[in-house]
Amino acid sequence: MNKIRFSALKELSSHLPVKNTKAYYPSDVFGCDVLTLDKMQRYLSGEAFKQLQQIMSEGGTIDRNLADQVAAAMKTWALEKGVTHYTHWFHPLNGSTAEKHDSFIDVQTNGRIAETFDGRMLVQQEPDASSFPNGGIRNTFEARGYTAWDPGSPAFINNNTLCIPTVFVAYTGEALDYKTPLLKALSLIDKAAVDICQYFDKDVQKVIATLGWEQEYFLVDEALYNARPDLKLCGRTLMGHSAAKDQQLEDHYFGAIPERVNTFMDELEYVCHRLGIPVKTRHNEVAPNQFELAPIFEEANLAVDHNQLLMSTIKRVARHHHFRVLLHEKPYKGINGSGKHNNWSLLTDTGVNLLSPGKNPKSNMQFLVFLVCTAKAVLEHEALFKACIVSLGNERRLGGDEAPPVIMSVFLGQQLDSILNEIEEKVSSRKMSPDEKTELKLNVGKIPEIMRDNTDRNRTSPFAFTGNRFEFRAVGSSANCGAAMIVLNTAVAEQLMIFKRETDALIEQGVKKDEAIFQTLRGYIIACKKIRFEGNGYSPEWREEAKQRGLSVSNSCIEALRAYLSPKARKLFTENGIFTDRELEARYEIKNEIYLKKLQIESRVLGDLALNHIIPTAIQYQNTLIANVRGLKEILPDVYAEVGEMQLKAIKEISERTREIRTLVEEMTEARKRANNQIPNEVERAAAYSATVLSYLDRIRYHIDKLELLVDDEIWPLPKYRELLFCK
Ligand code: ADP
Ligand code: MG
Repeated sequence: MNKIRFSALKELSSHLPVKNTKAYYPSDVFGCDVLTLDKMQRYLSGEAFKQLQQIMSEGGTIDRNLADQVAAAMKTWALEKGVTHYTHWFHPLNGSTAEKHDSFIDVQTNGRIAETFDGRMLVQQEPDASSFPNGGIRNTFEARGYTAWDPGSPAFINNNTLCIPTVFVAYTGEALDYKTPLLKALSLIDKAAVDICQYFDKDVQKVIATLGWEQEYFLVDEALYNARPDLKLCGRTLMGHSAAKDQQLEDHYFGAIPERVNTFMDELEYVCHRLGIPVKTRHNEVAPNQFELAPIFEEANLAVDHNQLLMSTIKRVARHHHFRVLLHEKPYKGINGSGKHNNWSLLTDTGVNLLSPGKNPKSNMQFLVFLVCTAKAVLEHEALFKACIVSLGNERRLGGDEAPPVIMSVFLGQQLDSILNEIEEKVSSRKMSPDEKTELKLNVGKIPEIMRDNTDRNRTSPFAFTGNRFEFRAVGSSANCGAAMIVLNTAVAEQLMIFKRETDALIEQGVKKDEAIFQTLRGYIIACKKIRFEGNGYSPEWREEAKQRGLSVSNSCIEALRAYLSPKARKLFTENGIFTDRELEARYEIKNEIYLKKLQIESRVLGDLALNHIIPTAIQYQNTLIANVRGLKEILPDVYAEVGEMQLKAIKEISERTREIRTLVEEMTEARKRANNQIPNEVERAAAYSATVLSYLDRIRYHIDKLELLVDDEIWPLPKYRELLFCK
């Protein structure tokens, strides 16, 4: 038996469930590691508290005096809880979170050591920007970057360190993170949505975007993980024949959660609750060893922070239970990949969910405006919606094994569809008769009833309306939700603003408000037909139809990313102050760079494994077969006459497959070298890798997977799919 795999399997049996969380009331511990505004009140003067509260709800700048007071409050709270360090906590464009811990201690003028933390330290830090992806924004002579406090997201304690959520920008002011543009997009949609609400309810002063993510992930036993260099270095398996049984019996989804997994989840939820992450739902997903965790939705900026925090926390806690978490979009070939559905809606300060049908015709009209403007936003920026969710990992997930297709479309459900059709029919630019108007309003008023029995849940749509929110299902499991939230909120805000402009123009021409709204709505409804799709998104027919509708059907990440630089995207982002041209270009470069580097790593790892693990093992087995054939021929010629041919066939197949693997690995390496040596520009090199390196991964794997079936199980070096997927 191969040593690595054998000892991994042996070690596995020692990984029993560890009971480690004491019984607790979630409500007792919820947020105990978070400095909420409520707690802040205890440490601040009344005046300072009022000021801070106002800045948190309305924005504005924090003066030095207030910053000092808040810093002192944070320090006191943290020290009371035994915390020794603080850090600015931010989301650089490498997709993870970054922190640099500093101790509270400082030397006083009298030489004594004391704990220090003042407004200056709270408001700004200066990490070196050059070691984070910056897309050429950083000048070589000026590597500084700044992190600056985001008062909209509360400080929290993680790893005995006070973490202060911050934005991260270059010395020259350009954003180097997800949070900066996200905050801008959220404030844009606030204003645009309030303006629309004013048609219906003058009391609305603020609208927030809400986000409820659903995080899918795989667990794998630590010992097996350690025996798979591809999982360790790439986060996914680069080889492995399908297990005889995986998800075909559909016996995992919502099944009983295995005990060891359950104790892991208990601890994870305990930690999350302390951190104020309102996780609520947990269940088995479709693939074996795949699970999902979903919180109660929150304001989008906070929800994004919480998802980033969750992704690092889940990895840490899993280790306590000898698990590793795979957040990759497609860790295993042939079974479901993992996504992170982004459930999104808009909520007014009067407590109305703008994507939830209301109680009367007026609020339903408002609902329809928001619904249709969202669909129109997807239509207008279809390419950008795709660009914000693609990655090397998601490229493998989308369009395969129960993942939404890479074609952007909007699902509304049959009932809403027919209401929209009715508006299209009844409303026209000519004046409506009073009877027609009454009938239309009556029907619009019936929406909630209709929606009540709307169980329509099209799981094949990348962007589906689900009764009181949209679910952006194409987002990848390892992604920072910020990327999708920036595009979604900016694009919808733009449509709301255009809607308002067009409707106001009609009102100015003397059209009554209600009728003007209906007329604008009608135009949008007609336009949106191109993006609305109620059918099966997985079907080949849809692909054909989408092509005819002029929607982009390409599966290529590299191609999709180009949408970031299209004139339409530039206009959207620059005119609305979300990104400058320079920032967009940098982001585009970074996305390409990440694609390139990840593909390069995958290609190298596969080459190494093929040459150092797989081929030698195959040859070793082949030698056994050769010895066997020789022996038979010599000692048992009759038996040889009977089975010799079969044995020889196996020997030959091993030769053929190892030869193929070697040739393909050589070609792949050559393709890499060519791209590396001849193409200095990283964006172009990423495209070359995608065109010339990518396809080798599957071609090489094909032969390795065939060898796995052929070679003696005892000597196969890597844990197999049946082991990775079924050991828990
Ligand atoms: P399903 O798997 O059927 O989509 P889940 O319960 O797993 O349902 O997930 C639903 C998600 O939608 C949760 O994260 C929830 O918080 C979120 N959600 C519900 N209402 C809203 C809303 N108004 N805005 C944003 N997210 C919402
Ligand atoms: Mg969902």
